[in-house]
Formats: sequence, C-alpha cells, structure tokens
Amino acid sequence: MALLSFLGAIRQVTGSCYLLETHEGKRVLLECGMHQGRREEESNNRRAFPFRPKDIDAVVISHAHIDHSGLLPRLTKEGYRGPIFATEASCALLELMLHDAAHLQEKDAEWENKWRARRGQKPIAPLYTGDDADQVLRQCRPLSYQQSEEVVPGVRLTFHDAGHILGSAIVQLDVNDLGRTRRLVFSGDLGNDCTPLMRSPAVLEQADVLLMESTYGDRDHRCSDDTLEEFLGVLQQAHKDGGNVLIPAFAIGRTQDLIYHLGRFYHEGRLPQQAVFLDSPMAIRANAIYSRYLEQLDPVELERLRGMGVHKVADLLPILRSTATPEESMAINRVTSGAIIIAGSGMCNGGRILHHFKHNLWRPECHVVFTGFQARGTLGRAIVDGADRVRLLHQQIMVKAKVHTLGGFSAHAGQSQLLNWASHFSQRPELHLVHGELEKMLALQGALRHRLGWEASIPEPGDRIAL
Ligand SMILES: [Zn+2]
Repeated sequence: MALLSFLGAIRQVTGSCYLLETHEGKRVLLECGMHQGRREEESNNRRAFPFRPKDIDAVVISHAHIDHSGLLPRLTKEGYRGPIFATEASCALLELMLHDAAHLQEKDAEWENKWRARRGQKPIAPLYTGDDADQVLRQCRPLSYQQSEEVVPGVRLTFHDAGHILGSAIVQLDVNDLGRTRRLVFSGDLGNDCTPLMRSPAVLEQADVLLMESTYGDRDHRCSDDTLEEFLGVLQQAHKDGGNVLIPAFAIGRTQDLIYHLGRFYHEGRLPQQAVFLDSPMAIRANAIYSRYLEQLDPVELERLRGMGVHKVADLLPILRSTATPEESMAINRVTSGAIIIAGSGMCNGGRILHHFKHNLWRPECHVVFTGFQARGTLGRAIVDGADRVRLLHQQIMVKAKVHTLGGFSAHAGQSQLLNWASHFSQRPELHLVHGELEKMLALQGALRHRLGWEASIPEPGDRIAL
C-alpha cells in the first residue's frame, strides 16, 4: 500500500514537503521547500532530511516560490541525481530563484565566518552554492499543463494550472497500487481569482486524497475594485504628503500584478507619481520570463493587452525604471518625494527594500504599502503589527511612515474561493489541510464543516497516511 508522509508546511506556511512511497518501495518527493521566517524556523533548513536524498526516485515541484523549491540545491548537494519535474515556466523561474537563494546562502556564510574567525571558531560551509543550484537545473524535467508522465513505475503525474504565479500547478498523482488506482491531488498554492494576469485555478472533479493549502483559510480578500481604489487613494495621499511610496514585493507574481495595476492608472491619467522604480534585479529578470510565457496568462486580459500593443511586461507602464545595478539602486536614495519604489524582498527579511526603509521609514510623509502575506518573525510582520521602531541594517529606525495593508492583491485564494474550488470534487475525497498557520486552518476546517458538511483533518508534522 502506498504511504504519504507530511514532512513540511504542516501547520505553517513555509518548508513545503511531502513524501510518497509506493508499495514497490519507489519514493516520490513532492516539494522541497525552504523554511522562512524566525531564526529557529530557518535553522530547520540545516536539519538532516527525514529521508536519504539518494533514496529518492523522483521529485515533483508545484511552483517556483522558494518555500516550495528552495531546498532543492541541498538535495542535489547531498547526492540526489534523479529527475525534478516542474512546468516549463517553473523551470525557467527556478533558475532565477535558486541562483538568488544560493547567492544569499554564500553571502550569509561569508558574513558568519568573519565573526567565527575572530572568535577562533571553525568556518561553516554555506547551506548550498551556485554549483548545487546548477545541478538542480540540469535535473529539471519540464512538463506542460495536462501532459501526463509516469514519474516512477506506477505513479503518473499531471500538472493543472493553479493560477497563483506563472507556471504554478495543482499536482495530480495517480498511484497504481496492486491493480487499483488512487488519485492524490495537491492544490499547491491556489491563485486568487481577483489577480488580473493569471487564469483562474483549474477545476478538478476527482480525487481520493486531497491536500489543500490554507494560507488564507480564515478570510476573504476584498476583490479588485475596492482594493484598487484604496491603492489609488494611498498614492494620491502620498503625492499630497510629498513623500515616497514603498512597496515591498515578491519578485515573481506580485511585482507583475503591481506593474499591471499601475499601468492601468497611468493610462487612465490617474497616477499622480512621475516615477516608478523597480529596484529588484530578480523582478527585472522575472519580467523577462513572464514576457516569454505571455500566452499562459489570462486570455481575456491578454487580448486586451495585445490590442494596446503590449508585448512585454515592461510595456505596461511607460514610466517604469528598472534599476538593475547597485549604483542605479543607490541613486534612488536621492529621490525624496514623488516616487513609487517597488523592491524585494516581499517579507522584508533582506534585499534592497531595507535600504529604502532606512531612507524613508522614519519620515511621516512617506507611505508603505504591504500587498502580501507577512509570516511571523519577519520584519514585514513587525511593521504590519504596528511596531513603532524596528532594527534593520544594524540601526534602530523609527516607523513614522504610514503603513497600509492591501489584502486584495494576494496571489492566494481566500476562504470562499478555497471552499468553492473544493466543492467541485464530485465524490468527497479524504481532505487534509496543509500550508497554513494553525488558527487559519481551524477557521477553514470550521467553514468546510458548516458550509459543505465536510470533515477535514489537520495533520501534524511527521504524520503518515495510507493512500
Ligand atoms: Zn507560492
């Protein structure tokens, strides 16, 4: 009998990882995500895998976000040499994400080793390096949506569009076990119907076991129009106040949505700011990949954009200035008003956004707009939760800028969308909630019970079920 183990993103939102073992002893690793957030959570990234990487026969990745893919280079570093299945666009994005992650790991280790040398301690090795990331890319096996492939004997994989970011997939694994086939469906991260560029998540009707994400299991997002008016209101207020607008954003997905919305405001003559800086080398490169796979975006929107002569993401917003080099980035520090600055990282635990905070966060005329989920323990969460001062780049900085959280931009389905997506399964699968903080899972569990009469389990880390 096939077995499924819940190894990561269990009662939390990062470190996505599941292991499927067939009755013939073949092992498929579903996801290999990095732990993000508090220091003790991140220390999990160095803990031994609960399996031997060499014993894995195939790896399946739902999408390129680092909390789903970020430990792949550690897997190859520790000897995994089998195939890594992901969609074509995910493979392109993985190159970007994993090289960036490897670079951060190398820099972290270098920094740590300076301190260690002074204390007479042995140096540590980085978690992984760019070479390990290169090895991952050599093992990637791109698949199209709906293209079905046997990943190990008796296990057939099919990806369906999850509508979350470019290339994101709902994972369907048909497991043949002694003549009977059981279907495991993993929602991956399900997209929010309100995001303009992505298609709606594919509707699936059959599953025996369903793993469903629950990031926003406790709430609905306000849909586009309200959020957009609120966003525009913030931009207008910032213009009146004479300050800058800082938008920490994830390089992949959120940034392209923001450029789209700002482009609409610009074309409607409603954008008061004269300059929009995209200060993230990774987001700039992600724009190029989105432009390459433009045909995978929402077909209605695509038609409209083609009519406007838009053939690449940067065309959406003529006043967009992409600042790739550190010199260009530093030059933004001289701009004290009238600019919108989109910079990474999304949860503010690193990246160029920190420099912009240093120059703007203490100024009451500036505004900060959060458009994405802020995990516990991150700088972003502290600011959202109302900290009056924060520590960044070895300094205490007062938080005097006005802080706004706009939930409608989320790339994740809200509670009603999750319920709606689940309600299409014709025969009720065994349902397990994953990828969410416990209180959000409990809220979703309650809503599933009340609205669909459906009992969902909330697994604990390390739980194992028979498929
Ligand atoms: Zn994601």
